[in-house]
Amino acid sequence: MKIVVCVKQVPDTTEIKINPETGTLIRDGVPAILNPDDAIALEQALQIKDENPGTAVTVVTMGPPQAQEMLEECMAMGADDAVLLSDRALGGSDTWATSNAIAAGIKKIGEYDIIFAGRQAIDGDTAQVGPQIAEKLGIPQVTYVKNFELQDQSAVVERSLEDGYEKLKVKLPCVLTAIKELNVPRYMSVRGILRAAKTEVKVWNAADIGVDVETVGLKASPTNVFKSFTPKPKGTGVKIEGDTPKEKAANLLIALKEKHII
Ligand SMILES: Cc1cc2nc3c(=O)[nH]c(=O)nc-3n(C[C@H](O)[C@H](O)[C@H](O)COP(=O)(O)OP(=O)(O)OC[C@H]3O[C@@H](n4cnc5c(N)ncnc54)[C@H](O)[C@@H]3O)c2cc1C
Repeated sequence: MKIVVCVKQVPDTTEIKINPETGTLIRDGVPAILNPDDAIALEQALQIKDENPGTAVTVVTMGPPQAQEMLEECMAMGADDAVLLSDRALGGSDTWATSNAIAAGIKKIGEYDIIFAGRQAIDGDTAQVGPQIAEKLGIPQVTYVKNFELQDQSAVVERSLEDGYEKLKVKLPCVLTAIKELNVPRYMSVRGILRAAKTEVKVWNAADIGVDVETVGLKASPTNVFKSFTPKPKGTGVKIEGDTPKEKAANLLIALKEKHII
């Protein structure tokens, strides 16, 4: 079985700063990590590999040269192969352009039975890239996967919903996006670290993956960021005092009446 896992290097913070002129993320000076949902996607791929000898797991990312460190971490966890899609022509891509590049990279990787992605990246936060890759490769997709089982040439998955889950059987090849309920990612192993040190990350540019440069990068991105800002923090709250719930409720009532809210 051949599995591809899409992984993204993200800033280790939820306080994202955005360049007001270009609308792109400012990454300088912020430590970078493997996107948490992608670690879960990778763990699922590695569990399949553990149970099905002969399975090969390839991790792929589109990003700047420093994303190579994250790919080495993925190999130290157990991935067999790693591909970095890196080119100035890809810089500034929005989700549509990003998925064009990644779909082209996956086509170059060749055969695949399952493509895993995280549900969402903690910086961009759109949850669009996984589904868009499936569309561009013309294969089925299931998002929000919280449970996974292989059955012959199909995956039987539980897809999380707001008020429960649905159980779906999907034919391979397919794209599955992982959520945190799916598993707990493993740590890197010493054997993995040594193997990662000996395995070279493949670095491919736009020409290598044969992507039309008119469909990638900032200029090709249909998303326009008109304005971006960090919302002002809310004022401090008020603690309603009282010895009993009844007294607290009475004090709340007084406070609301004083402010003419009720
Ligand atoms: C005009 C514009 C310019 C932008 N320029 C930049 C830029 O220069 N640099 C930048 O980092 N962001 C840039 N962005 C943000 C960019 O759109 C997103 O970071 C990127 O397309 C992924 O979207 P997301 O973070 O919402 O991922 P989501 O859709 O939330 O990610 C879901 C999953 O898809 C996979 N995935 C997502 N991105 C990648 C990736 N790069 N490689 C491999 N797998 C991936 C992962 O498995 C991830 O968990 C720009 C956005 C706009 C609108």
